Amino acid sequence: MEDCIFCKIANKDIDSELIYEDDEIIAFNDIHPQAKHHVLIVPKKHIPKISDLNENEQDEILVGKMFLIARDIAKERELDGYKLQFNVGESAGQIIFHIHLHLISNG
Ligand code: AMP
Ligand code: ZN
Repeated sequence: MEDCIFCKIANKDIDSELIYEDDEIIAFNDIHPQAKHHVLIVPKKHIPKISDLNENEQDEILVGKMFLIARDIAKERELDGYKLQFNVGESAGQIIFHIHLHLISNG
């Protein structure tokens, strides 16, 4: 989608510190980290908010995969504990309207 920063990152029109990539999902470092580890797990498909997800198998699998990728990154980094967070809507602090899962940890 035009004018979406995470679509541009997914298309490589904007650089990011890439952590993971497959056909459907990318993960990269948050530009303003809230902790020692702050990774964003992002589907390549443009979905503005979690509340816009479809009730179909494709979106169910996509969101499930996002959590499994977050788990794998945490495992690879041997994180003791971590937070996984979706901000949904402006009032909850969502500033980028392309869904993303925050993986946040101090190790
Ligand atoms: P949210 O508040 O859930 O919408 O989170 C958006 C996140 O995207 C924030 O933590 C920002 O620091 C991060 N962010 C914004 N622009 C970029 C960028 N170009 N590369 C990496 N992270 C970004
Ligand atoms: Zn987008």
